[in-house]
Amino acid sequence: MKIHEYQAKQLLKQYGVPVPQGEVAQTPAQVREIAQALGRTVVVKGQVHSGGRGKAGAVKLAKTADDALAAGEAILGKTFFFAQAGSDLTVNGVLVEEAVDIDKEIYLGITQDRVRQRDVLILSTQGGMDIEEVAHNNPADIAKLFIDPLLGLPDYAARQVLFDAGFPKTSINKAVPVLKALYAAYVGTDATLAEINPLVITKDGSIIAGDAKWDIDDNSLFRHADLAALADVSDEDPIETEAHKRGIQYVRLEGGDIGIIGNGAGLVMTTMDEVQRAGGKPADFLDIGGGAKAEAVTSSLEVVLSDPNVKGVLFNIFGGITRGDEVAKGIIEGVKSLDVKVPIVIRLAGTRAEEGAELLKTTNLIPAATMQEAAQKIVALAYAAK
Ligand code: GDP
Ligand code: MN
Repeated sequence: MKIHEYQAKQLLKQYGVPVPQGEVAQTPAQVREIAQALGRTVVVKGQVHSGGRGKAGAVKLAKTADDALAAGEAILGKTFFFAQAGSDLTVNGVLVEEAVDIDKEIYLGITQDRVRQRDVLILSTQGGMDIEEVAHNNPADIAKLFIDPLLGLPDYAARQVLFDAGFPKTSINKAVPVLKALYAAYVGTDATLAEINPLVITKDGSIIAGDAKWDIDDNSLFRHADLAALADVSDEDPIETEAHKRGIQYVRLEGGDIGIIGNGAGLVMTTMDEVQRAGGKPADFLDIGGGAKAEAVTSSLEVVLSDPNVKGVLFNIFGGITRGDEVAKGIIEGVKSLDVKVPIVIRLAGTRAEEGAELLKTTNLIPAATMQEAAQKIVALAYAAK
């Protein structure tokens, strides 16, 4: 789960990382008021779940309260293309905070390294908006520290990575507690990404978080009611949001039109490949999971069909714990209650597949014997209609 910069900065503050003073605004008039109260140059920053806001035009410096008002008008309610998110997002809120006097922009982040099976702290003195290019062109300018989970981040390890990164020597003593606080916040919030870019060294040598980007592990939200409450689904795909509310593993795919439902992530991905091979474009990934009951099947079908681009649906069920007759019942129920206008092809195999096939005979749902046949059938039917 992603949270906004202003929320992440509140977390950072609680853990002892210095952050600029500021407040969130929803209207240009509020932007002006906050800027007036701060009484100095401010930065007005669109709050969306994507990085690269500076490049998108959603971050603006404002010297006066009137400039701040103008910046608010230029950002609030406006839609920008965010290369990092790969999509257009509309800005509903801005963070208005005191501008910091930047001497140096540092990149500081912690995330998981799956190969090392450790958290990794990443540090670069070439921080700021071009960090991706630095990582690509000058990887030597990026220092890494793989954190031992039993030791955590002791002072000596923090100092070591700061030296490795070529961090300005006069600021190292100030940076050590910032690295430690970031790690404490990362662990304390069950984050999968905690990033400060830029971490600013100001002209007077102090250190302050200029930005914050935070992802929290969805699987930990049950034990963080306070963090779960920070969710803002306005940037998320509405169908994905609805699916996740229902506990369904669903990913919507841009530009696709063949709905796909299967049990088990591997089988679903293989089905997507088969549909692609048959000349179709998968509209989604949906895994109904093991042991899915009729109700979950109906609910999944409803989610897939709520995408107006879907021209046909392919069910691919391999019965193990999941029983073919349960799935068949679910599909029949779903079709009855949903007024389905597109063809549905079903491939059932494994546990109780024959009983399932028997139930389907009384309907206009189209059976298929193999995955390949199912993919070819749904592609032919979906693209033939209209
Ligand atoms: P991002 O593009 O989404 O990562 O947004 P950032 O918060 O990192 O802002 C982008 C860039 O705007 C930063 O790299 C800075 O160069 C600049 N910027 C952000 N805040 C300030 C500030 O308070 N003062 C100054 N001078 N520049 C800022
Ligand atoms: Mn940034």
